[in-house]
Amino acid sequence: SLKGKTAIITGSNSGIGLGIARELARAGADVVLNSFTDRDEDHALARQIATEFGVTARYIQADMSKGDQCRALIQTAGACDILVNNAGIQHVCPIDEFPTEKWDAIIAINLTSAFHTTAAALPLMRKAGWGRIVNIASAHGLTASPYKSAYIAAKHGVVGLSKTTALETAGQGITCNAICPGYVLTPLVEAQIPDTMKKYDMGREEVIKKVMLERQPSREFATVEQLGGTTVFLCSDAAAQITGTTISVDGGWTAL
Ligand code: NAD
Repeated sequence: SLKGKTAIITGSNSGIGLGIARELARAGADVVLNSFTDRDEDHALARQIATEFGVTARYIQADMSKGDQCRALIQTAGACDILVNNAGIQHVCPIDEFPTEKWDAIIAINLTSAFHTTAAALPLMRKAGWGRIVNIASAHGLTASPYKSAYIAAKHGVVGLSKTTALETAGQGITCNAICPGYVLTPLVEAQIPDTMKKYDMGREEVIKKVMLERQPSREFATVEQLGGTTVFLCSDAAAQITGTTISVDGGWTAL
């Protein structure tokens, strides 16, 4: 059980981050949710988790594109046994047309934020003699596709940062790994299904299997619950010697 541990999950008011927060709470951890907004519904998500799983749950606003706010998130939480760097955005465009401000935002949110939160969390983890850092990379942290240069560069960077963090914390009760999801069914992806159905004049199942999951041999989405379960495993005693590596949850994408 993760009872008594505090987990901070960046970018966790929707999708994978929220799914991971829920599974960590189910395993007994107190959780800190985060995004850049500060709406009633953000705080309501934390209240819902607290009620459902009987843990302490808070929502702390911090913009992961700003280094000082990344560090402030950890300081404000006051404890950080488990850090999940999940916040991320995407932009699809050929390199020679890629807007510089999009490149900068993707590198800041998807990569540099993990540097800042890790730097702020490590002293707390070393003091406790225990810590788990789980970085949400992507199948695109290991392979590439056209038109996603910033995202792929950032995700490959996250894998490299995870390895370096593992080496600097080895033997200190702290591990750092990267999870590499393939296509995950999040509200964001769900929302793309109707348009894609129209574009290809296909039914829901056909568009999912033939178009969206073309590169995922299982032809099945990974779920946010599965990503949460993988994170809980990496926080378990069984995973104490798993560090500096990647775990793919991609239905075979990177085996191709
Ligand atoms: P999502 O859009 O539902 O979640 C992204 C989260 O990041 C949201 O909570 C959003 O509020 C937050 N966020 C965005 N900008 C932020 C900022 N400046 N500061 C703080 N928070 C910010 O998408 P998702 O699919 O759940 O993605 C979560 C992570 O998983 C991302 O890093 C993404 O690259 C990665 N991933 C997703 C998939 C997939 O198929 N959905 C596959 C591989 C990797």
